Formats: sequence, structure tokens, C-alpha cells
Amino acid sequence: MDIKDYRVTGGAKVNLESFSTRADKSIEKDDIRNKLMPQNIEKMAELQEKLYAENQHALLIVLQAMDAAGKDGVIRHVMSGLNPQGTQVVSFKVPSSEENDHDYLWRINKALPRRGEIGIFNRSHYEDVLVTRVHDLVKTSQIPPELVTDSIWDTRYRQIRDFEKYLTENGTKVIKIFLHVSKEEQRQRLLDRINEPDKNWKFSSGDIQERRHWNQYMSAYEQMLENTGTKDAPWFVVPADNKWFARYLVSEIVLEALREIDPRIPELPESEKAKLEECRRILQEDA
Ligand code: AMP
Ligand code: MG
Repeated sequence: MDIKDYRVTGGAKVNLESFSTRADKSIEKDDIRNKLMPQNIEKMAELQEKLYAENQHALLIVLQAMDAAGKDGVIRHVMSGLNPQGTQVVSFKVPSSEENDHDYLWRINKALPRRGEIGIFNRSHYEDVLVTRVHDLVKTSQIPPELVTDSIWDTRYRQIRDFEKYLTENGTKVIKIFLHVSKEEQRQRLLDRINEPDKNWKFSSGDIQERRHWNQYMSAYEQMLENTGTKDAPWFVVPADNKWFARYLVSEIVLEALREIDPRIPELPESEKAKLEECRRILQEDA
């Protein structure tokens, strides 16, 4: 499997219908469950420890998807082997009144991972070119009306590209994952949430409302992918109809990002090493 097959780096038209929502058939589910996924989780944990020790780079993983595409499951599975100290997940909901009193990147900035950390955004600033676009929420927002022009979405794409470039240039690597679920699979999963009492809590009648706008969402996603996928901060369109496959592919993507960062355990300067010798001697003589 080559993660490049799922990567969008901009410059070309994106048609989501040409991206599969189903697992790559050449990979066995049991192989992933029993071998490949546990291996990846172990490798991620090793690299995370180095990232944390080095304390210079950060990794930001942005997760976007339609409802019931499996964001929570991806977070749970992929992060299962990581050290919670050094990982943070932030979920972005409908903006609060305080958040609406600021520009849309304000809350995003406050939630960015520190150096040494892996940050996961469950939804993100991309909601501001997705749900906001589909429902034209800028019209009723506090943004000065003269700034709400026909080119506002192109302006936002440019702002987001600039913002992510800025992050990259300051040591935060940004990768973005779109869990691509089919409309039929979403229907099944929403039905499960209604039919299974244990899953009722996950259901929101609002999900049915959003589903009605499926085509508008797909179009907003396509334009988002086209305009904000870049070489440095790429999008990955992850087939999400088979949960086990989506989770594995995300683990591959995260692993590759960590490898690219290539964090190293810091080596002490000679003067500090000499101090270690001195401390060793003191402890040994203190028996
Ligand atoms: P959930 O992830 O199921 O808890 O739902 C969060 C909800 O918040 C989704 O319906 C999102 O579309 C919505 N949301 C997140 N960010 C924004 C935003 N910037 N503007 C409007 N709605 C948002
Ligand atoms: Mg929901």
C-alpha cells in the first residue's frame, strides 16, 4: 500500500467520485488486525517518545468527515498506543459566542499542539469552509458585511494555506485527513445508532438535516481539497466504509509524517555529560 495514492497536494481538480470509499482489496483484514496495526502502533509510540524528548517539532493531525464516518474510532485506535502526556485531542463544535467575537482562526490557534506534542483536531478551521459554506453562515455572522463578498471562500482558502505554511515554517507539521464515507454506509451507521440503544447517545437528529445537503457537502469538500491540499500540508482522502482499513491507513499516514519529522533523542553537551559522571559518583558513594 502506498499512501501517496490517497494524497492530495493541490493544483488539480478533485472529483470525489473517483476516490474509493472502500478498502484496498489486496490487504487482508486479519493481517491488519493481528499484525500490521499492532506493529504500526508500536512504531508510532517509539517515534512519539523521540518527538517528546526532542521538544522541537509538533505534529498536527486534522480530521474532517461527514457524520458517522468514524472520526472518534480513528482517534481511539490510532492513538491507543501513544503516551497521553504528549498527545492532545481537541474537538471543535458550533462556535461559542466568545469564539464568534473573534476571527475563525482564533480558537484554532489556542488549541495548537506544543513543541514535542501530537495534536489531533476532531473537526477544525475547515468547518469554516464546509458547514459555514453549505449553510452560508457568513451572511448571519458578525463579520463586517462589506467583507462578505463572492470571493470569501477563495479568500479563506488562501488564508488557510498561509496559516498552515506559517505553522510548517515554525516547526509544526500539518497533515489533514478526510474520512471518505459513502452515503449508503452513512445511512447504515445512522440507522445502527437509532436501532442499538447503546449507540443512541451518538445520534443527533441534526445529522439527518446535514445528510440532506450531501451533494453540497461533497462539492464543498472537493473545493477544499483542491484549494488547500499543498505539498507541505497535504490532504489524504481515506476510504472510510471499512473501519479497520481507515484506521490502518491513518496509522500509516501518521507514521510517515513522524518519520519525515525524524525526531532524535537529544544528546547532552559535553559539559552536562561531565556533570552526569559527577552525579553518578555521588550516588554510588552514598550507599
Ligand atoms: P459533533 O462533532 O458531532 O459533536 O458535532 C459538532 C457540530 O459542530 C457539527 O455539526 C459541526 O458542523 C459543528 N461545527 C463545528 N465547527 C463549526 C463552525 N465553525 N461553524 C458552525 N458549525 C460548526
Ligand atoms: Mg455528530
